[in-house]
Amino acid sequence: MNKQVEKIQISGIRRFAEKVKKVEGAISLTIGQPDFPVPIDISEAMIQAIRDNKTVYTSNAGVDELREEICNYLRTFDIEYNKDEICITVGGSEGLYSVLFAVMNSGDKILIPGPAYPAYENISIMIGADVVTYPLNEDFTLNLDKIREKLENENIKVLMLSFPSNPTGAILSKEQRNELVELIKNKNIIVITDEMYSSIIFDDYYSVAQAKEIKDKVIYVSGFSKIFSMTGLRIGYVACCEQYMKEIMKVHQYGVSCAPSIAQYGVLEGLKKSLNDVENMRKTFERRKDYCLNRLRDLNLEVAEPKGAFYIFPSIKKFNVSSEEFCEKLLNEGKLACVPGTAFGDLGEGYMRISYCYSDEILKEAFDRFERFLKLNFPNF
Ligand code: PLP
Repeated sequence: MNKQVEKIQISGIRRFAEKVKKVEGAISLTIGQPDFPVPIDISEAMIQAIRDNKTVYTSNAGVDELREEICNYLRTFDIEYNKDEICITVGGSEGLYSVLFAVMNSGDKILIPGPAYPAYENISIMIGADVVTYPLNEDFTLNLDKIREKLENENIKVLMLSFPSNPTGAILSKEQRNELVELIKNKNIIVITDEMYSSIIFDDYYSVAQAKEIKDKVIYVSGFSKIFSMTGLRIGYVACCEQYMKEIMKVHQYGVSCAPSIAQYGVLEGLKKSLNDVENMRKTFERRKDYCLNRLRDLNLEVAEPKGAFYIFPSIKKFNVSSEEFCEKLLNEGKLACVPGTAFGDLGEGYMRISYCYSDEILKEAFDRFERFLKLNFPNF
């Protein structure tokens, strides 16, 4: 077996979701899949694509029209790429994998936030890269001093960013974006920014990918799994300048040939016609975010207000048990499943992730259960 692969484990999110299936009557707030149907224009475009026999390979980089349409879409975020700088991938996951594989050698150092989406660390380990973690501020905003310190003292090749964040929901402020751009400008590093949730945001959007002066250092990864509620259809994309793209394309080509053709045609129609559905979904998530935040604050839990995505990440430190133990007990005794913070790295200890991709009724019942569980097991909290 490959020694590097042996070093990693199946994602803690998935492992926990498997446990949930075994507990009868449990409510699960574990999933990162919007509870909305895929927009109708997308389904119809996919059905039409099947009827038109568009079931063959597309070019490795994806359907040209879709790559053009993605450029138009990115422009609405003030991000400028041309069609040749876009590669359509098999979800954001393959995008991340192909990018990390293309830019890193065994022994190279990558700076990853903690807590963070687990793929960054685990793909890096598979490649044999050295993972260095940077802690976030208490409210999960970026701690630029820590990043500066790590960049100065360690020979970092890749800086990993992710906004809005899974699991914390944190985003980048304008000031932090500007400071970060200044920092990146003066360093010889590659920055990968994972923006899977860029359309699900409750405040102004800022990204290092907007800064033209560091375009040659930034690789942007995103996708449509979340915004079009199509996690099973597997369409993501990478945007970056040619020097990176030509290497990323090799990994992508030998790994997957191309992203699924039918789903590419669906996304193409979605970008033309379904952005209103995305906006409605975003508004719903914002309302649910407020509900979860209020319920957690009523329970006197420390919690940072998420500014995007559809997760909330309260502290459970005051209960003095590990996050794994706490979530197991909550599942078995409280019949409520949330993901232990350690599924997002060691710095997730003391937290749990709640996904609010669930209806108002389910969320209400879940928080009622949580409240009863805390009163019963931690009466002095
Ligand atoms: N990046 C982040 C931050 C995510 O949360 C996810 C999925 O949950 C991905 C990437 C992977 O997305 P996909 O399902 O499109 O592969």
